[in-house]
Amino acid sequence: MKQQKCDLLVIGAGAGGLTAALRAADAGLDVVVAEKDEYFGGATARSAGGIWIPCNPHAAAMGGQDSREKALTYFRNQAGPRFDPQTVSAFLDNGPEMLKFVERASTLRFAAAMGYGDYHCEAPGGETSRVLFPQPWDGAELDQDLKRLRPMLRRAQFLGIQISVLDVGLFMSAGRKLGSAAYVFGSMLRRLRDQFRAGRSLRLTGGNALAAGLAAACLRNGVKILTSAPARRLLHEGNRVSGAVLDSLDGQLHIEARYGVILCTGGYAHDAGRRAETLPAIARSAESWSLYPYGSNGDGIRMGEAVGALFDCDMAHPVALAPMTRLAAGEGVMEVSPLFFFRGAPGVISVTRDGKRFVNEARSYHDWSVGLLAATAGEEPVAWVVCDHRAIRRYGLGIVKPAPFPVRPHLRSGYLTTGCTLGDLARSAGIDPDGLERTVSEFNEAARLGRDPQFGRGSTAYEMVNGDPEHRPNPCVGPLDKGPYYAVRALPGCLGTFAGLKGDENARVVDADGSPIPGLYVAGNDMASITGGDYIAGGCTLGPAMTFGFIAANHVIRRHKEPEAVHADSAQHAVQ
Ligand SMILES: Cc1cc2nc3c(=O)[nH]c(=O)nc-3n(C[C@H](O)[C@H](O)[C@H](O)COP(=O)(O)OP(=O)(O)OC[C@H]3O[C@@H](n4cnc5c(N)ncnc54)[C@H](O)[C@@H]3O)c2cc1C
Repeated sequence: MKQQKCDLLVIGAGAGGLTAALRAADAGLDVVVAEKDEYFGGATARSAGGIWIPCNPHAAAMGGQDSREKALTYFRNQAGPRFDPQTVSAFLDNGPEMLKFVERASTLRFAAAMGYGDYHCEAPGGETSRVLFPQPWDGAELDQDLKRLRPMLRRAQFLGIQISVLDVGLFMSAGRKLGSAAYVFGSMLRRLRDQFRAGRSLRLTGGNALAAGLAAACLRNGVKILTSAPARRLLHEGNRVSGAVLDSLDGQLHIEARYGVILCTGGYAHDAGRRAETLPAIARSAESWSLYPYGSNGDGIRMGEAVGALFDCDMAHPVALAPMTRLAAGEGVMEVSPLFFFRGAPGVISVTRDGKRFVNEARSYHDWSVGLLAATAGEEPVAWVVCDHRAIRRYGLGIVKPAPFPVRPHLRSGYLTTGCTLGDLARSAGIDPDGLERTVSEFNEAARLGRDPQFGRGSTAYEMVNGDPEHRPNPCVGPLDKGPYYAVRALPGCLGTFAGLKGDENARVVDADGSPIPGLYVAGNDMASITGGDYIAGGCTLGPAMTFGFIAANHVIRRHKEPEAVHADSAQHAVQ
């Protein structure tokens, strides 16, 4: 077995792991990142890249009115009995520092999405200035390592152009607005230039930009990012974690890490057993619908448990959920695609098999899914997102793009169902026709006045993001009255996991007694969520992932500066 030594070993190369590695390397530590996949970037590189940082300096510079007290109130209110003041305070105190650090140590720059509300921004402490997105980043900076970056999801691209959350509105309205068409045309010219320069698009956006920018800064600071190098088990000296055994293309590698190991393997989205155990409702569906890369199947959690770590699944919802649609993508292959946008737009509703609405569709994808699970208790959690012809041409539906793109190919593929009347549509889709007709008739009556008496759709700043800002009087509400009608089948899919290893305010992994396991840290989805298991804001997984990566590295750096503390840690744990 080959041997290697370093100061810090990070397992997993997503946002959590790369932020930790960058912080430690910037302080002069010798850092190795072990990545299981042939690509680095993890789910982060597929994500929208939104990071949630309360009291962030960019929002403050733009007149944001957030405060630490307000953010604490929001956490306390949202996490309820699971509110942990220590870890939440550590996040609030370190988040803005982490952001400043990343902008100093890398070429990444972030922009505050002012007006983009917390998912429950109407609740006490809620705000509309806490989400940031990475600005587009030039992939040429990664040079040859660009090949090792996990590609963005195909459906988040148009002709190879990566579309960020901030671009979506422009791309969707290019068929009817001159300004948007000019923007798309400019993007296509840039894409063409990149094709000649590098054989691919170099303008990276969202989570792809985030992962790329962090990895490039790590590599510049001497971090060794080993890809195709899955960690198999942790090594320990007495009770102190001292490294790990990896598989690599050259055989097994034994890495000794002087100051510790950080687990950042992205949680257990693809550990079907643990997922079913922690969220039996999702197991009612025979199908596994997740956009997560297959590598995140709970390795970090299992390795932690093997050395005594506590798996904390006391969460409101152990799994983060989003509505997913599926389509055949070749023989025996199904492609999963999320319904992130325009669920709550005018002329669009969601119904269960009995034709009834079950949720305020303009609320977050997670709330939509939780609403569906509650409405279908004991049955398969299936819904149909239904719209009229005007809505599908204006907003699209799932993978169906708005006009001028044709609808017909999606009818032929079976992705979309249609009917000249609501009754026809319901019969083709397998929805109760009377139920659907009754629901739409009641919905339309109030919708013509811009109201939704059943669920109050369009009443918060966040809901507006899921509507159409040009629609009056309510951007989220309009009738379905222009046939033909369309429906796409959707199920709650896994967008990541909230349950994970219990970490303390220094990102140290703790055991069943609450004592830190010396030398072992955790960040990202391997760590039990500090939200108590609710999707409280866009970016509330990546923001804490990066912040606890930063916190873990800071703790390691302190140990590096005071080596005697390493021994003190071990001795203290031994007597507890
Ligand atoms: C489509 C989509 C959009 C999203 N948008 C957002 C968003 O805008 N904001 C937000 O906050 N969240 C978003 N999320 C969720 C977010 O992507 C994840 O919560 C986040 O990426 C988790 O970061 P991480 O560092 O924990 O793990 P990851 O980024 O998943 O990285 C973990 C890495 O560990 C590797 N690994 C696994 N096992 C091993 C092993 N044994 N040895 C070595 N390496 C291993 C994996 O291969 C992977 O590369 C989105 C998710 C999806 C799917």
